[in-house]
Amino acid sequence: MKLRIDIITLFPELIRCFAETAIVKRAQDRGLVFIKAYNLRAFSSDRYRTVDDYPYGGGPGMVLKPEPISRAVEFIKGVTHSQPRVLITSPQGRVFNQSLAEALSLCPHIILVCGRYQGIDQRVIELCQGEEISVGDYVLSGGELPAMIVAEAITRLVPEVLGDEESIHFDSFYDRILGPPQYTRPRIFEGRAVPEVLTSGNHSLIEEWRRKKALQKTRLVRPDLLDKLSDEVIHE
Ligand code: SAH
Repeated sequence: MKLRIDIITLFPELIRCFAETAIVKRAQDRGLVFIKAYNLRAFSSDRYRTVDDYPYGGGPGMVLKPEPISRAVEFIKGVTHSQPRVLITSPQGRVFNQSLAEALSLCPHIILVCGRYQGIDQRVIELCQGEEISVGDYVLSGGELPAMIVAEAITRLVPEVLGDEESIHFDSFYDRILGPPQYTRPRIFEGRAVPEVLTSGNHSLIEEWRRKKALQKTRLVRPDLLDKLSDEVIHE
């Protein structure tokens, strides 16, 4: 096994459904990746299985208590005898992107903590040396979708998980820009023909065209990516 991801959540059934579907399931069946969901309530110590409490200082909503999360993290470490990277999903975190996914895919063990309500008690984030990670500048109701996004993006990068036909080399961001447009049959759809070059059989022309289209699209919708790219070239 090359990568183990443990996910601490109040909704393990969401994660299990994800872990038992498509590429992530196949990666697990092939023993390349292992993904496990833990119910945070199982780590609560009272008979009501309480995991949240009122915020100090007042204000609306509830906050996830530190003890169950800390116990869950320690439990997982005890099982695996490893020093995992602990990622805490949070809109206040570092924004997740392909370079971070690449860095994380080299890490053998990751724990992802899913927040809910108003978030997680700050002290447990610090004590677990958790790295806060965000999937973008918007607010969701829980960390489950972010955890699945992170887990899927990383799983795809683990060697041998994807077959040739799904190769990451043609994906957006692989060479730091967006990917080219794609076409399939029929050759003419509602009067619109597939760009001629793609049916030419000339591979170097096709490559050149794809690169040009990818750059055009990137310039149009994500000029920030090109700025970053030229910064990197200047600093190399
Ligand atoms: N009050 C918090 C938001 C809580 S949202 C704040 O203002 O920062 C509840 C939970 O959903 C969070 O604890 C986190 O786990 C998850 N979440 C919401 N939006 C997210 C995002 N953009 N990225 C990652 N996790 C997010």
